[in-house]
Amino acid sequence: MTIQYITVLGATGSIGSNTLDVVAMHPDRYRVFALAAHSQVDKLLQQCLQHRPRYAVLVDAAAAASLQQQLAAAGADTEVLAGEAALSDIACAAEVDMVMAAIVGAAGLRPTLAAAAAGKRILLANKESLVVAGDLFMRTVRESGATLLPVDSEHNALFQSLPAGFDGDLAAAGVVELILTASGGPFRHHSLEQLQHVTADDACKHPNWVMGRKISVDSASLMNKGLEVIEARWLFNTPAEQIKVVVHPQSVIHSMVRYHDGSIMAQLGSPDMRTPIAYAMAWPQRIAAPVQALDFLTLGSLTFEAPDLQRFPCLRLAFDSLRTGGDASAVLNAANEVAVASFLSGRIGFLQIPQLIERALSRMDLALSADLDSLLAKDAATRALVTEWVAA
Ligand code: NAD
Ligand code: MG
Repeated sequence: MTIQYITVLGATGSIGSNTLDVVAMHPDRYRVFALAAHSQVDKLLQQCLQHRPRYAVLVDAAAAASLQQQLAAAGADTEVLAGEAALSDIACAAEVDMVMAAIVGAAGLRPTLAAAAAGKRILLANKESLVVAGDLFMRTVRESGATLLPVDSEHNALFQSLPAGFDGDLAAAGVVELILTASGGPFRHHSLEQLQHVTADDACKHPNWVMGRKISVDSASLMNKGLEVIEARWLFNTPAEQIKVVVHPQSVIHSMVRYHDGSIMAQLGSPDMRTPIAYAMAWPQRIAAPVQALDFLTLGSLTFEAPDLQRFPCLRLAFDSLRTGGDASAVLNAANEVAVASFLSGRIGFLQIPQLIERALSRMDLALSADLDSLLAKDAATRALVTEWVAA
């Protein structure tokens, strides 16, 4: 078997660490080419010592210098690069077979898009790339012949439940709709009154999944599901009308595809991201993952309910932005990132998140940007506006 070289963008995060768990299980198949993170020196150092990559990247220059020094002292020959441009370099290098895109937020767009343009196999966790630049991203993938494999558990489930070789033609495949499941998050039973007083730590206590803080808040507000609806639209060429969301608190069914003949195909498993990661890494084969097997006899019941758009307006805003089209989703995402960061640092309340997003959507020009630079300029302008509102 030929060894596959992987670059992990966002290596120190929740998805990045889970990816390295799977890599470590299969030394005969995978080797790490490069690891990248923002500024977490200690964790990246430890990962470099274990996986011995050719390159390590830290965006923060001082952190990169410190990492280089500690690696040299430990006798490791990993070369450390600094700065944002290095992220794209390690994603595009000729030696790289696959790129795990696991940076959080729109910061992941440029290097992930660079990997797409270079025709790499992309394991996509960074859903924000598709939310911000879905049209451009999918066009780039088509033109370069890159392979795009969804890591997000819902989309990985949909990918597994669609016919092999699905080419985006829903009617030809006999598909009626995609059904995304949502856990409902930690505030599923909270009243609007209670939602006014929740804290960042409350939001980060997810009932089923251990994740980074940004996506944890998104899960609590249902914006994560909203971003996933937009992600599904691009990945599977599916209009908003054919994407449904159902709350399924046990997170056992990861999503479903409904067909014309009455069949529904679903993918089930323990809520552990190492399953979709391993699937994306090995597709079309399957490899072992260090995941607890699902035991139906101890599972109890699986339940379902409708999402409540009154208490969780972020999901409605995401559906609306998809229908509006243009740059609406990019504006939604930028406003959400600033609002979530402000909530995490205690500057705004939980219910202000959707309010700030709605205000940004009504203020910004939502016409489709002609290219990446103007799209990123709109992203920056939205962030500046929302930052100003938070400070006021
Ligand atoms: P995390 O916060 O745990 O990790 C984020 C990683 O990105 C870290 O390595 C950090 O150093 C890096 N990073 C942050 N900002 C950066 C920047 N500006 N430049 C370069 N690197 C930067 O996040 P996570 O939970 O692992 O999520 C990562 C992505 O995967 C997100 O897009 C999230 O929506 C998606 N995702 C996560 C899960 C999950 O279970 N955690 C599930 C599905 C999808
Ligand atoms: Mg998900």
